[in-house]
Amino acid sequence: MEFKDRQAQIVGYGGAATFARPELARACVRFQRRLPLIAAAVLALLLAVGASLTYAADPADSKPLQIYFVDVEGGQSTLFVTPDGHSLLIDAGWPGNDFRDADRIAAAAHDAGIQKIDFVIITHYHDDHVGGVPQLVQRIPVGTFIDHGANSEPDGNFSKNVYGAYQQVLATGKYQHITPKPGDKLPIPGLNVLVISADGAVLQAPLPGAGQPNPYCASTPVPPADKTENPRSLGTLITFGQIRILDLGDLTAEKERDLMCPNNRLGKIDIFIASHHGTESSDSAVLVHAISPRVAIVDNGAKKGGSPSVLDTIKSSPGLAGMWQLHYSEESGDSHNAPAQYIANAKGTETGAYLKLTVKPDRSFTVYNSRTKESKELAVATPSRK
Ligand SMILES: [Zn+2]
Repeated sequence: MEFKDRQAQIVGYGGAATFARPELARACVRFQRRLPLIAAAVLALLLAVGASLTYAADPADSKPLQIYFVDVEGGQSTLFVTPDGHSLLIDAGWPGNDFRDADRIAAAAHDAGIQKIDFVIITHYHDDHVGGVPQLVQRIPVGTFIDHGANSEPDGNFSKNVYGAYQQVLATGKYQHITPKPGDKLPIPGLNVLVISADGAVLQAPLPGAGQPNPYCASTPVPPADKTENPRSLGTLITFGQIRILDLGDLTAEKERDLMCPNNRLGKIDIFIASHHGTESSDSAVLVHAISPRVAIVDNGAKKGGSPSVLDTIKSSPGLAGMWQLHYSEESGDSHNAPAQYIANAKGTETGAYLKLTVKPDRSFTVYNSRTKESKELAVATPSRK
């Protein structure tokens, strides 16, 4: 009776089978009972494959890149987190201050949902960039350190101790260590990270699509050479989808000229992380106006960087959609600073407010100010800025 009923059900599913052996029939019944489950599993698999194909075919719909501009009070610390959770930190802020900078970096990592920082670039060995490394590695695991090689200021009265402390961290043997040259590509999953400058050398060949004469070379005075670690900064061009992001650490103007004259070797840039915290010995028009960024972020402090001339150079750059600052620059006053909504830490405050960019591969992005809790959307720009 039972068998006959089930056989009828089997036929009802479209099968015309008859079963000479009851055990075979029972196996088919078990299969039939599981059919809805099997169908659901196949459907889920097909949806997953479809989603991955969509990701590959249409990156504009895929997950964004997150960039945190951590406020380290006039130093640098910029955290990139890719859609699949890989991470790159450019510089670690200052030493001292009872873990202030390490805690702010760890908070950004937590906000992005990561438990480890895969790669840390140390642009150069000044306090406000490498000084925070010993505290950073106590707050969050790090995979690989990347730097330009030996310190060029062994007798510098402010960089000696922080360089030694960084070397002690490397000497623990817990970390990978890379010392690249201009033109090298760094092995960071999900991002194309090309070294533009390192240890005083700059990229020699123009990037694909770049190499046009730079009209700003003739009208910009030749700057004096800087003898410190600044011109040895490890600078990178980071490409995500079609978005191009430039960070040259504290590279100074004579190296900007080496890189950008007579021909613009970089082409146009979407997001420019202002060099040297917006200090007047960097960020010449030779660089800034030639790369004509859509957005510039100045990681200045209240009393460090954010020079009036640099803020003016950036604001007058062709094609600029917005300039954001980590702090109101006291030196620059209201006439040179960006409007208040573009400043993370307002006049007279040091609250550790940060800026965050959320970048889609289609070149649209959002800039978020953690003080105002406001986001500004920047639409897709055309044509391609390469
Ligand atoms: Zn600096």
